[in-house]
Amino acid sequence: MGTVREVPEGVLVEIGSATACFPNRRCLPDGASLDIALDSPGRDDALRRVLLAGSAGERRTMGMRQQHGREAQLVDPSSPTPDCDGLIANSSDFALVALAADCVPIALAQGQSVAVVHAGWRGLAAGVIQRSLEVLGLNSGGGPVSAAVGPSARVCCYEVSPEVVDALGPHASAEGRMVDTGKTAAAILSAAGVVDLTVMDACTICGSPERYFSFRTEGSDAGRQGVVAWLNR
Ligand SMILES: [Zn+2]
Repeated sequence: MGTVREVPEGVLVEIGSATACFPNRRCLPDGASLDIALDSPGRDDALRRVLLAGSAGERRTMGMRQQHGREAQLVDPSSPTPDCDGLIANSSDFALVALAADCVPIALAQGQSVAVVHAGWRGLAAGVIQRSLEVLGLNSGGGPVSAAVGPSARVCCYEVSPEVVDALGPHASAEGRMVDTGKTAAAILSAAGVVDLTVMDACTICGSPERYFSFRTEGSDAGRQGVVAWLNR
């Protein structure tokens, strides 16, 4: 498990040669919004505060136009917001951003490569974690993977249809129709051989509204938290 440190802006986790920050909804206790949604007017400021909190220095932030699919790709500076759900970097010049509000934000590190992943139930079912690990491995040259799984919809609150439980397959962590997306993501990572795994035990639906946006609770206007990850220099 990586070293975990709470700061007013969120939770910092050291994973291998990278750092991941899972931002709070608000910077506690000053209350400033840290909504990092693509259309949030405060996105750039919020990301700056997150990077500062993690002592990241100057980095170019790279996000994704998330699709709920399984596409994962290496960052391309000429295409700053690609259509995918997994993003990989081999350079410490970048800070990678995945957005979530009940979906699972994940950071991965392997050798001198880092990745972020957005995984809702569709992405978990489609294999976005497995595909991201594949693309990460192709770029890093292999070796042990470190991973951090952020706050998401958990078994206490996330009721789905039986079809969704079926779609999640053998790694589904569920009690009847209640699904734990964080534990499902962790099970997929473990099955893929990831041993160094940090899983935040937090539900975005019933957790603190100061800390988490929730699509289930607030609908499509909900802002976004997620994960920001970068290679240490
Ligand atoms: Zn809950």
